[in-house]
Amino acid sequence: MNLQEIVTKKYNKSIADCSNEEIYYSLLDMTKEMAGEKENNKDKKKLYYISAEFLIGKLLSNNLINLGVYDEVKELLAANGKDIAAIEEVEPEPSLGNGGLGRLAACFLDSIATLGLNGDGIGLNYHYGLFKQVFENNLQKETKNPWIEEQSWLTKTDVTYPIQFGGFTVTSRLYDIDVTGYENRTNKLHLFDIETVDESIVGDGIDFDKENIQKNLTLFLYPDDSDDKGRLLRVYQQYFMVSNGARLMLDEAVERGCNLHDLADYVVVQINDTHPSMVIPELIRLLMERGISMDEAISIVSKCCAYTNHTILAEALEKWPISFLEKAVPQLMPIIYELHNRVAAKYDDKSVYIIDDEKRVHMAHMDIHYGFSVNGVAYLHTEILKDSELNNFYKIYPEKFNNKTNGITFRRWLLHCNKELTALFEELIGSGFKKDATELEKLAKFVDDDAVLDKVLAIKKDNKIALKNYLKATMGIDVDENAVFDIQVKRLHEYKRQQMNALYVINKYFEIKAGKKPARKITAIFGAKAAPAYVIAKDIIHLILCLQQLIANDPEVSPYLQVVMVENYNVTWAEKLIPAADIHEQISLASKEASGTSNMKFMLNGAVAIGTEDGANVEMHEFVGDDNIYIFGESSEEVIEHYAKADYVSRKYYESDPEIKRAIDFIVSDELKAIGKAENLERLYNELLNKDWFMTLPDWQSYRAKKDEMLADYEDRKAWAKKMLINMSKAGFFSSDRTIEQYNTDIWKL
Ligand SMILES: *Cc1c(COP(=O)(O)O)cnc(C)c1O
Repeated sequence: MNLQEIVTKKYNKSIADCSNEEIYYSLLDMTKEMAGEKENNKDKKKLYYISAEFLIGKLLSNNLINLGVYDEVKELLAANGKDIAAIEEVEPEPSLGNGGLGRLAACFLDSIATLGLNGDGIGLNYHYGLFKQVFENNLQKETKNPWIEEQSWLTKTDVTYPIQFGGFTVTSRLYDIDVTGYENRTNKLHLFDIETVDESIVGDGIDFDKENIQKNLTLFLYPDDSDDKGRLLRVYQQYFMVSNGARLMLDEAVERGCNLHDLADYVVVQINDTHPSMVIPELIRLLMERGISMDEAISIVSKCCAYTNHTILAEALEKWPISFLEKAVPQLMPIIYELHNRVAAKYDDKSVYIIDDEKRVHMAHMDIHYGFSVNGVAYLHTEILKDSELNNFYKIYPEKFNNKTNGITFRRWLLHCNKELTALFEELIGSGFKKDATELEKLAKFVDDDAVLDKVLAIKKDNKIALKNYLKATMGIDVDENAVFDIQVKRLHEYKRQQMNALYVINKYFEIKAGKKPARKITAIFGAKAAPAYVIAKDIIHLILCLQQLIANDPEVSPYLQVVMVENYNVTWAEKLIPAADIHEQISLASKEASGTSNMKFMLNGAVAIGTEDGANVEMHEFVGDDNIYIFGESSEEVIEHYAKADYVSRKYYESDPEIKRAIDFIVSDELKAIGKAENLERLYNELLNKDWFMTLPDWQSYRAKKDEMLADYEDRKAWAKKMLINMSKAGFFSSDRTIEQYNTDIWKL
């Protein structure tokens, strides 16, 4: 049915008479119907991308684009006096992910469908997602983020499984979301849920009874893990996800003709970080239940599972106490012991054991021993895994290790979020880049074409004005589109070093006070959620919000400097912020950011990076050359050496560098304490002075100098436009279509 027919049937009205909500729900029906009509891939072998997070963002516009009807719908709506942008606003954004890892999974699903591969996602249907961030008194507060309405993208299926935990059993229910490929097939995102979940147990904020598993299991993504009850709940969630996923894989394989002995010809599982690692023992257990010997089950499953590592931060590599697993999933323990014993019988080196002397199960170790592939997510990251973090494993299994540099879907991060730029590209190089992103290279021939450079600048200006209007409408904040927009948006973590950017702002504030004014106003824009229990991260948010208020109210400084922290940074915000950025900040401590993907989105949209040689910045630097990216700071080798020698003392930098001292002292100044809370500001001050685990201070002067150089270069608008164009022309490599092709060629072999 077309839109008018659906509207008539649903509401018995004309399009023009419908509310934006009614049109949104009608488009939802239309899109689901169109997606359902697409042919499915019936290939024998199928990929299951299993992940605790899928940060899918709003789906309406992307689905319309991928189904090839966006322009048609937009015009039809316009002819009836409706604005598609206003209808997009009606859709709630699910927060089924934290940040990069979850967004990667969503980009991958788009590319898998676009390439026509036989592959679905498996995850959980969290009712309240991660959390919604609100600011109160310049502090982050967490509230629930409900997104499931009466009518939504979810389709309830008949699939249910009995999932057994220690002492009780729950019944699952599968919900599906269509994943439309760009002018291609439709795949599925399978989200499991239980029907006994009780939303009413959530009180103020995001507090609830963490022990009532039947009622709380799928309420939130990763509830607070600062206590054992929260950590145990994660184990329940993870097992619920993998047990459902494993059952679905086996059932579907059998339906396609698999006799279970040949499972590896039918199923390949990509384990996205360690949250789904229990899928390995669970698949083994289910195969044994169906009559296969343990020896054979282990061998079969080892041929089906592949593991993606996303981080070298030790605290993020999950290690579950045996006592937790014994309580939540006792049926898995005999298998985990067996997997461990086989390793222990073969190797003397305890660092590769699955169970350590403290009786903890190392999930990544299980993945590496019993999966057939281990991949990092950018060149540098994979090299660090091989050379240091996982070197003991690399020596055993060099053939398992491989790199798959992350990518982003250009449908969302160009075609959807920057329509004006997309149109310019089409005008200049045709539309081939939509299917083959490397065609963007053709843009390089326009680097000396003044008319094209002017258009590139004009589009950036339009996008800045669009952001200005959105900031005004949503947060009541005024910004000046003639300022330079310097944007850092990503999860708040000390390794990502938002604090370094904040110290730059403080230093600039002092310079302006002293009469040294920048060539044009600098608008430093931040967006970041902090994990609810991550105290210092929340203190950094507090500092940024206090600076925002202080500077906005200082008439001496505010004409030259502004700080804006957007509330509840999410995919919707990213889609508005990224096309409007002049400068993007990728300033993690070298060696700590596995890849980054916002760097790729910004590059594609013509922003220029200031960054360290970290993650995928290394590859970006290689592609664009020294003149088109601003690199500073210590190398990953130097950083790794500091940690090895434990020779970094932040106080030395504080004592020997008057600018650093001035900036850090300002955190606990009377001016800031008058706005913020002394306790938080003092805690952050002490952290930087006495610990600074992620080495902000050694890189600070080179960061300051590099950014000043960058801001000066920005004033040569032609030369800057050329840098923008070169960045865009080299962004093709970072399409997730390329990444997925490599996963398929090297790992999945679909
Ligand atoms: C792309 C994206 C991220 C990842 O950003 P990084 O800077 O690579 O950490 C996080 N959150 C959202 C909403 C994103 O779109």
